[in-house]
Amino acid sequence: MPETEIAATMGYLTRALKTPTIGRVWETLGDQARTEGWSHEEYLTAVLQRQVADREANGTTLRIAGAHFPAVKTLDDFNADHQPSLRRDVLAHLATTTFIPKAENVILLGPPGVGKTHLAIGLGIKAAHAGYPVLFDTATGWAGRLQAAHAAGRLEHELKRLRRYRMLIIDEVGYLPFDADAANLFFQLIASRYEQGSIVLTSNMPFGRWGEIFSDDIVAAAMIDRLVHHAEVLTLGGDSYRTRARRELLKTPAQPAGK
Ligand code: ADP
Ligand code: MG
Repeated sequence: MPETEIAATMGYLTRALKTPTIGRVWETLGDQARTEGWSHEEYLTAVLQRQVADREANGTTLRIAGAHFPAVKTLDDFNADHQPSLRRDVLAHLATTTFIPKAENVILLGPPGVGKTHLAIGLGIKAAHAGYPVLFDTATGWAGRLQAAHAAGRLEHELKRLRRYRMLIIDEVGYLPFDADAANLFFQLIASRYEQGSIVLTSNMPFGRWGEIFSDDIVAAAMIDRLVHHAEVLTLGGDSYRTRARRELLKTPAQPAGK
């Protein structure tokens, strides 16, 4: 087959297969294969690998954009030395994302500035890389979404739609209290995810005070019960990373330990 005909045919075939990367690389990789004496099998493998790598990278980019993270934070950027009580083996296990297909949850508790949101986003990014759709919002944001869906008579539909996301991140439970209606909707969200899809949740309030957030001890207890049944609960502590960073910037010495 003449070279021009091969090129035209490959152009047609790669469009028909929707494999633009193959369309872009088959010729140069062909040259490289001839120069380096690759077998046919090695050449085919190299071409397909490039296509799959591109497709996976595109998918990850789309999933990260679709997750609406407030910032990009990775687990690699998380300085575990600042959280000595945080178990590294647990963090390493979570980073494998195996809890996601098991619909297990991750609860991150602790005061402001200790890295709860950072870790939640880091887990979300891991999930996106592993091929799982993720959606991030604050607790207040989730309540707003659910209220809008409920008002439009589409709550069931919305809860079903959200199940397509294998990980939902609920950030900042506890900063703002919920009224009874919002608490009820929130409970429905948790209940609809139970054993169906993962929730990564952060809160500045220990479970013992969730009754205050949801203005109802019984609803709070029912929610916690479902959340923690299959969950890793991590409690972060120490002083705020933000103030620590600022202190270091200003070179103001911290309080000596033990004082
Ligand atoms: P929280 O959600 O607990 O209030 P954040 O996750 O927003 O805290 O953390 C506050 C800031 O400090 C963020 O910019 C975050 O990236 C950073 N930060 C917190 N803890 C760490 C850590 N251990 N390593 C690296 N950065 C951290
Ligand atoms: Mg936060």
